[in-house]
Amino acid sequence: MSTQTTATTCPYCGVGCGVLVDRDAAGTVSVRGNPEHPANFGRLCSKGSALAETLGLEGRLLTPEVNGQACDWDQALDTVASGFRRIIDEYGPDAVAIYGSGQLLTEDYYVANKLMKGFIGSPNIDTNSRLCMASAVVGHKRAFGADAVPVCYEDLELADLVVLTGSNLAWCHPVLFQRLRAAREQNPNLKVVVIDPRRTDSCDIADLHLPLRPGSDIALFNGLLTHLSRYGKVDYRFLEQHGNGFSDALEAAEQSGSLPETAFLCGLPEQDVLQFFRWFAATEKTVTVFSQGINQSSVGTDKVNAIVNCHLLTGRIGRPGMGPFSITGQPNAMGGREVGGLANQLAAHMDFTPEDIDRVRRFWDAPNIADKPGLKAVDMFEAIGRGEIKAVWIMATNPAVSLPDADKVRAALAGCELVVVSDCMRETDTARLATVRLPALTWGEKDGTVTNSERRISRQRRFLPAPGAARADWWIICEVAKRLGFAEAFDYVAPCEIFREHARLSGFENGGRRAFDIGALAEISAAEYEALTPFQWPRPAGSRTGQTRLYGEGGFHTPSGRAQLVPVSHQAPQNAPNPDYPLILNTGRVRDHWHTLTRTGKAPRLCAHMPEPLAQIHPSDAYRLGLLEGDLVSIESLWGKAVVRLRLDEQQQEGCVFVPMHWNDSFSAQACIDAVVNPARDPLSGEPEFKHTPVKVQSCRYQWHGFCLSRETVSPIGDYWTQLPVVNGQRLEFACSEGVDWHSWAQAQAPAEVEWLEFKDPGRGLFRLAAVQDNRLAFCLFIGPEPNLPEREWLTTLLSADSLSVNERLALLSGAPPAGTGSQGRTVCSCFGVGENTICAAVRAGCHSAKEITRQLKAGGNCGSCLPEIERLIAENKRERAA
Ligand code: SF4
Repeated sequence: MSTQTTATTCPYCGVGCGVLVDRDAAGTVSVRGNPEHPANFGRLCSKGSALAETLGLEGRLLTPEVNGQACDWDQALDTVASGFRRIIDEYGPDAVAIYGSGQLLTEDYYVANKLMKGFIGSPNIDTNSRLCMASAVVGHKRAFGADAVPVCYEDLELADLVVLTGSNLAWCHPVLFQRLRAAREQNPNLKVVVIDPRRTDSCDIADLHLPLRPGSDIALFNGLLTHLSRYGKVDYRFLEQHGNGFSDALEAAEQSGSLPETAFLCGLPEQDVLQFFRWFAATEKTVTVFSQGINQSSVGTDKVNAIVNCHLLTGRIGRPGMGPFSITGQPNAMGGREVGGLANQLAAHMDFTPEDIDRVRRFWDAPNIADKPGLKAVDMFEAIGRGEIKAVWIMATNPAVSLPDADKVRAALAGCELVVVSDCMRETDTARLATVRLPALTWGEKDGTVTNSERRISRQRRFLPAPGAARADWWIICEVAKRLGFAEAFDYVAPCEIFREHARLSGFENGGRRAFDIGALAEISAAEYEALTPFQWPRPAGSRTGQTRLYGEGGFHTPSGRAQLVPVSHQAPQNAPNPDYPLILNTGRVRDHWHTLTRTGKAPRLCAHMPEPLAQIHPSDAYRLGLLEGDLVSIESLWGKAVVRLRLDEQQQEGCVFVPMHWNDSFSAQACIDAVVNPARDPLSGEPEFKHTPVKVQSCRYQWHGFCLSRETVSPIGDYWTQLPVVNGQRLEFACSEGVDWHSWAQAQAPAEVEWLEFKDPGRGLFRLAAVQDNRLAFCLFIGPEPNLPEREWLTTLLSADSLSVNERLALLSGAPPAGTGSQGRTVCSCFGVGENTICAAVRAGCHSAKEITRQLKAGGNCGSCLPEIERLIAENKRERAA
């Protein structure tokens, strides 16, 4: 058998890059960008490039389990169905719920929603997409009458001004950032403005960075609206023909005051605010990209409308190079929205209006259909905690880690009568609380469709066989539906049949009233579905292609057909910093990781860039609080506490601390930052305020700090620990409050029959030990009373060495490479494993641009995700030389 190539889609972020997967006769898989996919044209970021390294079956859930005991599918499905039936009969349909995920394929989502809302008759199905873009959904519906993104990726390249607000595109949507970077090189007129309290890597290409005060976004965009009106930028023709609410929106915006008052409120220099306003006013082709920094707020919906108002006022929407652009976090957040995965929507973008309820009821032949909106994510888990929801089915997500006030979520699940978890991984923080675990397929094994941020529907295709007893989510849901007595409505044999029905429903009694319409695919055959190429919705019956942009010539989906400018006013976040909790916690993603690490945590090269959970804080704050680089610190709020490593970072705004969202109990002790996040949420969208929790940061005192590198898996130890894979082994970082017999612990962890090397300095509290087997490093342990232990990078490379040289053996317990050799330092380029020290040495030797670094070291030459960091290192080296 020769190499087989499968065209599929990346399972990580909302860019939705096309991926070509090559699988050779030996089963070896390699991954490359699909040059023909319109989202990425062949590009991939670090995460996408490393997909082939994440396909191993370690940690997979491969058999159904009931109460921790393996069983067959019949027993597991009967347990779920009988449990749901008993609770529904006893307490009514609202006592059960489904919590889904933007990782589900559209077909999975469709049947989950159909089962819960249509046939069980409960509206309680919500999704983790609530946590990333629900505010954009409500903002779109208020302004456009539909949850429709009016623009496309190409608009970033056609624009003359791109505003990134609440979006670290460089790390969270890297391929779009690459496209923007390339466009900027081609078009010297293209300006980029970044609005973000942090100076992120996205600022690498910014002409202007506005580090606004957290939570002041509405004031800034209201100030912009006022400026646009004052300086004659109102598009009266557009507003007369297509817009409502101009006067009210402007009146509300004017409350933000004069330019100096706006600048003061936002904590920004007046001239920078004016510069931004002038560029926006002068540039017709403007795209405003917004993401979680806008959405994840207790006033997220108003923030979205403050942005959209500026585009409507100027008529800059839906034409090439202009419009407001919500970029979603997850690969199929948009698909979930299309099928009604949110508790306050029905299906196919329909609402809980009498007409829509009746329409879907007739289409599904579902007399028991839910007739009111259900509970949104945070409310749903609160209802579980109160015992009102007694059975919950969680699919492809990890709410015990990812919801705010996460410890409360764990307690709620621990007390819930029936917790069903469908997942590909066995040991997630949520799966540990499950009554029933159902093994689901994952990327590479499952088949269906996803929709990216520009409304583009693409196929995700299978290229691997189903492992063990794992099954597709849609199959699992349909089997439970059949056992609940709904066999006729869930008698699908393939995802294509579900997609066909989904397409038919989207066009059913539509007539252009609903934006989401893919009726052209209502009769798609299995072969056509298999060969389906990416397209953008809407694509109503009779059309051969999708629609690139929306609303350029009006045609909004409000009852009047006109867009609505929404009056919004600046409001401070719900929970303000105070003397007890003086700093503002901001959470988010890092460059090489994804969600709760279940996939990226398998790839050593993705773990190298940030191997530990970090709190990033401005040096001035650290100085004030008596904290040092590398300290372990507690981040504590009214809701919970986490312990992470401190990194001083001048890119942070004073008064703020940034902690990544990824770490959880499977990878670290006490690093689940969402346990700290406040559960405040937007009253309209229900989206939580992940970017603004008052916290205090304090140093944690431990008796011992240590790290261990091992070829074999080691057991975590200590009050604090974090563990991730390295090439050919594992890295464990830890700290303990009490004494440990390190010798015995090491001997229990290391393989048998090794040669031990040992160094002790009791006076300084140092203990170092290495195990060598066949002249190869098998294990090493470094212990000291302070966190300032040797660099791990050189020692990590020794795990891959075929044999140790004499000098390496001699240097081993010093933790530093032998004289004359160096350590590459902290990994910067994860694609080629190039470290900070190597890059800095090249800069000192005369490389003065990222291009030269790439030419010499390859770093930055694959996915380009590390280019901003390389540029920063070059700049820092220049500054040091000049000093
Ligand atoms: Fe995947 Fe990266 Fe593309 Fe996002 S930008 S879809 S993570 S390759």
